[in-house]
Amino acid sequence: MLLGALEAGGTKMVLAIGNENGEILEQTSIPTETPEITLPKIIDYFKDKEIKSLGIGSFGPIDLDRASKTYGYITSTPKLAWVNCDIVGTLQKHLGIPVGFDTDVNGSALGEATWGSTKGLGSSIYITIGTGVGVGVYQNGKLLHGMLHPEAGHVLLSRHPEDTFEGICPYHSHCLEGLASGPSIEKRWGKKAYELGSEHKAWEIEAYYIAQALVGYILTLSPHRIVLGGGVMHQEQLFPMIREQVKVLLNGYLKTPLLEDLDSYIVPASLNDNQGIMGCLKLALMELEENK
Ligand code: ADP
Ligand code: ZN
Repeated sequence: MLLGALEAGGTKMVLAIGNENGEILEQTSIPTETPEITLPKIIDYFKDKEIKSLGIGSFGPIDLDRASKTYGYITSTPKLAWVNCDIVGTLQKHLGIPVGFDTDVNGSALGEATWGSTKGLGSSIYITIGTGVGVGVYQNGKLLHGMLHPEAGHVLLSRHPEDTFEGICPYHSHCLEGLASGPSIEKRWGKKAYELGSEHKAWEIEAYYIAQALVGYILTLSPHRIVLGGGVMHQEQLFPMIREQVKVLLNGYLKTPLLEDLDSYIVPASLNDNQGIMGCLKLALMELEENK
């Protein structure tokens, strides 16, 4: 059975055709311009592909409340052309198939939970540390939405004692995204993040912030495993540094065998950077089942 997947990002749209086993059969990407330009291109791509449903993992904030009048909209995004864009309604109308919808990072969490390193676990979280920081929460076999959807990339942190950088979040002076996203590292050190050597002080500060956030998520959400993805996490030296800090901060408080083996508890993304688009295939499949 053919399914469509759309990873809607602030800079590019990834479009793919795949199946219910998470296999991607073809994939392409187009730049994210305005809805007037980009949505017709997306419709053109999918319209003759004989897909049974489409799954979208989108940048946001988005409206995921099925009882709301603006369900399926991108809402108050900083990408102004997309504010109040009815992405689900428009694609549904033109393609005439069920359209599943969630945040981009929930899509990645779902991809990993279905086919990747958190498969078979009831509760897990996926964190992307890239241009922004996002957290997808998979809880008791479902993606967590709550009031809106988690925005846990903006949790507030204690500053590293040696970090004087003001942060880059326009809303918060000391949130995770403002202090630890790729662009924040690059502004703090005046260099591309991948040009800083693996011994650079940047990574100690980075691990300190990520670990603090993880401890907050562990204490509140109690996940069975945490996956770290996104461009910044290509710096593999961060993993042992983060695990070490998490251990220090938890300080033995939680007694469970899972936390005794942090190498298996805090892990990299495992689907070759396809976790997002594969998650969209699963969203498509779930929507199809919902509509039966
Ligand atoms: P996005 O978040 O836009 O989907 P990425 O997850 O690839 O995309 O994140 C891009 C950011 O990650 C860049 O701003 C850059 O700062 C950072 N980045 C990309 N590659 C690396 C790398 N090898 N090492 C450290 N940082 C990186
Ligand atoms: Zn913030």
